[in-house]
Amino acid sequence: MVILVINAGSSSVKFTCFDMADNKKVLATGLVERIGIEGTSMKYTNHKGDEVKGAVDVKNPTDAVKLISERLLDANHGVLKSLNEVKAIGHRVVHGAEKIKDPIIITSEVKEVIKDCFSMSPLHNPHNLNGIEACEGVLPGVPNVGVFDTAFHATMPPNAFLYGIPYNFYTENSVRRYGFHGTSHAYVSKAAATLDGRPYQSLKIVTCHLGNGGSVAAIKDGKCQDTSMGLTPLEGLVMGTRSGDVDPAVVLYLMKLKNLTADQTDNLLNKQSGVLGLAGIGSSDLRDVETAQDSGNAQCRQALEVYAYRVRKYIGAYMAALGGLDIVVFTAGVGENSATMRASIVNGLDGLGIKLDGAKNAVRSPEPRVISQEGSPVKIHVIPTNEELAIAEFTVSLVK
Ligand code: AMP
Repeated sequence: MVILVINAGSSSVKFTCFDMADNKKVLATGLVERIGIEGTSMKYTNHKGDEVKGAVDVKNPTDAVKLISERLLDANHGVLKSLNEVKAIGHRVVHGAEKIKDPIIITSEVKEVIKDCFSMSPLHNPHNLNGIEACEGVLPGVPNVGVFDTAFHATMPPNAFLYGIPYNFYTENSVRRYGFHGTSHAYVSKAAATLDGRPYQSLKIVTCHLGNGGSVAAIKDGKCQDTSMGLTPLEGLVMGTRSGDVDPAVVLYLMKLKNLTADQTDNLLNKQSGVLGLAGIGSSDLRDVETAQDSGNAQCRQALEVYAYRVRKYIGAYMAALGGLDIVVFTAGVGENSATMRASIVNGLDGLGIKLDGAKNAVRSPEPRVISQEGSPVKIHVIPTNEELAIAEFTVSLVK
């Protein structure tokens, strides 16, 4: 069964084409980027390793989906004989608010929900919908499935999702914590249970998705109990360019002090803060900050310590929220690749039963692996995330 997975962003459309019947094989993957701006290009790689890349004339998501379809059918590098082989298309959608709690077949009602969430996810939902509508046009009759970043967190209880502000802002304006990266948290927590050999429904797991954005989730018996992102992805961890948790009064103070508009403040907290703002070397990439730290930059060292401390604090808080812990999982760009950051995060947690094995932690591998000491009461796992595969699996389960 061939499944196409689409992740449509503000100026890019990423795709992966799977043959789910052939051991979930990736037939082809790639992206069209800088859509609608100068220098539009496409990269396409098929399962034989053929790579096609270069400038393309693509002005909108529909053009992008047409081009992706053409490449999939291409006589030299294509992987399909006909578009009829595509049995369904899975789409990453960021915000589904309270209305969407599971992956769902896209209907006109679902599209209305995606639109209702535009104001809460202005940078993602409109583009996600454009991607869906482009596919409806280019591949008519093929079912589209929406897999929502917020859906996995729909099981959070009110004590975790309500803010301490007047209740009517929740009932009338839907202001509450929703959480994001749900597809990744779901995927890696299930994979951790498999690696551990115990039933998913019997485990207390904390997943740390540490990429350019970052969030932590507390999962009990296969259900999310809490997560660090909130109404928007700004809450929680110190991220690449986002501040994460700050005293709300800091926002008001800075707005008054610097005469900032709401948009300028939004930009400050989402784009100029986090590791970028703290480290002060003009990069939000942890590799650059770690390199600068290694050559003696004290501000970079401090930025990395703030980053690690925030994650450590959430792990401790979620241990309390779950009433114990079986597995801590690290995933995404930083979590999968930075042994130094993983060690820094769990530093001093031996007393809580979280005991890192330094040698295992230092091994680089693309495989799911255990990096805790033999006999550590809490296991520590590194699980490479695969949101595309998770979306493809959900899509198959819905259209079968
Ligand atoms: P993601 O959003 O999951 O693609 O993660 C991207 C981020 O992962 C980059 O911005 C880097 O900060 C980080 N990253 C990737 N590789 C490494 C590495 N080897 N060491 C430290 N950080 C890394």
